[in-house]
Amino acid sequence: MTAGPQFSVHQPGGAPDRATGGATGGATGGATDGGRPLRVAVIGAGPAGIYTADHLTAAGDGTVLVDLLERLPVPFGLLRYGVAPDHVNIKSTGRTLMQVLSRPQVRLLAHVDVGRDVTVAELRERYDVVVHAVGASDDKRIGIPGEDLPGSISATSYVAWYNGHPEGAPPELGGARVVAVVGVGNVAVDVARILLRDPEELSPTDVPQDVLDALRASPVTDVHLLGRRGPQHAKWTTKELRELGELSGVAVVVDDGQLPAEPPEGATPGTLRNLAVLRDWAARPSDDARRRVHLHFGARPVEILGPDRVTGLRLERTSAEGVGAGETWVLPVDAVLRSVGYRGSVPPGVPFDDVTHTIPSRASRVLRDGEAPPGEYVVGWIKRGATGVLGTNRSDAKDTVTTIRADAAQLLAARPPDPGGVAPLLAARDVRYVDLDGWLAVVDAERRHGSAHGRGAVKISDWEQLLAAADEALTPPPAR
Ligand code: NAP
Repeated sequence: MTAGPQFSVHQPGGAPDRATGGATGGATGGATDGGRPLRVAVIGAGPAGIYTADHLTAAGDGTVLVDLLERLPVPFGLLRYGVAPDHVNIKSTGRTLMQVLSRPQVRLLAHVDVGRDVTVAELRERYDVVVHAVGASDDKRIGIPGEDLPGSISATSYVAWYNGHPEGAPPELGGARVVAVVGVGNVAVDVARILLRDPEELSPTDVPQDVLDALRASPVTDVHLLGRRGPQHAKWTTKELRELGELSGVAVVVDDGQLPAEPPEGATPGTLRNLAVLRDWAARPSDDARRRVHLHFGARPVEILGPDRVTGLRLERTSAEGVGAGETWVLPVDAVLRSVGYRGSVPPGVPFDDVTHTIPSRASRVLRDGEAPPGEYVVGWIKRGATGVLGTNRSDAKDTVTTIRADAAQLLAARPPDPGGVAPLLAARDVRYVDLDGWLAVVDAERRHGSAHGRGAVKISDWEQLLAAADEALTPPPAR
């Protein structure tokens, strides 16, 4: 990040501690000239929140102090609990995020539930800036009959389970052999790949041991990926799509007749690449494969069928644009995974748009009653909706920080005394949080846990065990 305007007014600084790294006593920047640093609370320690902390503190001059509040006992959000375990390169972004958490100007306060342990209003009293970075971790619904039948599960819950989310639970697939995945985005590709990949290939990853054992016992032979429009409208990206064709012992089954004969008008280069991949697969034989992934387009789910658990999915044939004419058929399946996107939710007292599932904002400032005054901001999926890849959050965070920088002098001038941060309030409420040392203790415990199974680091997925691992470093909040 390039150094921007100084975040300071001329006020005496407070006492430095480990978390400020002397920021209030100041090595450089606003703190050296008697000013105080800008105090920022970021709600959510996923990639968007940590990238925001990164852009705010990259200059390392102590003019900004960031507290990262996280509901879960550990940071990294969807990097840890969304990105598939076999996407090792993406997971390695964790090293960059760890460097940000290790900065003296950044403090991790995990296992603090904003809304329960502290309210947004209380944060706004104690920080110059509050940034909402809570992401989007709930599933969207398809909105058809049968969605709640046993055997119909959301991709978000399946992803949470295989990623060892402490609130995840084993999926109720009921020994399914044939699984329908509704949706043709990157999450659908992820879940299809995990359902079909040879589990031994997951052993070197950090996938939890019980998940690995369950995948080893999985009888799944066929996965049907279902797009409600034509293949030119599929949301997957080419790199992720190609991976389906690289799974050993797995055939990709595509009917050439579903693919457009001519390049669709206005098709992007990405769409043309996707269509070329599909065309290549359509020409391949698929007879001797152990497992298969079938790609369907123009297939809109209208009802999940079954007397007491899923036995099939009724589909309506649609045009490439998704328009149906009432012709339906039944695909016999044992389970349905609904992978139709994520949606966010927010703590009480925060505006929320129920249609876009985002916090309404203008230039990253939160809109309240049509006004977007400085002081409250938004970043990541809760700002944009669940779109884009991990790196999108980096540039998004930069945009949010540009606005914060533009407002900083005004915010500091409006409140010369240091608002102090949330630590004393958490201490008064006896809220114990997991700090950086606690998180490092979890990382260490996961290495030991993996080596007990003859593997590398393996995730601990139990909430209490995570806290126990962090316990030696679980500290009451120090004042700073
Ligand atoms: P997504 O990209 O929005 O895809 C959702 C899919 O569900 C679309 O095919 C959509 O079809 C379909 N859908 C929505 N409502 C439906 C309904 N009622 N009936 C049938 N189909 C329906 O969402 P996602 O796959 O959850 O991914 C979320 C974000 O995470 C994306 O930006 C994705 O790229 C990102 N991600 C990235 C990676 C990676 O980089 N490796 C991995 C996972 C996720 P329509 O287009 O017709 O609406």
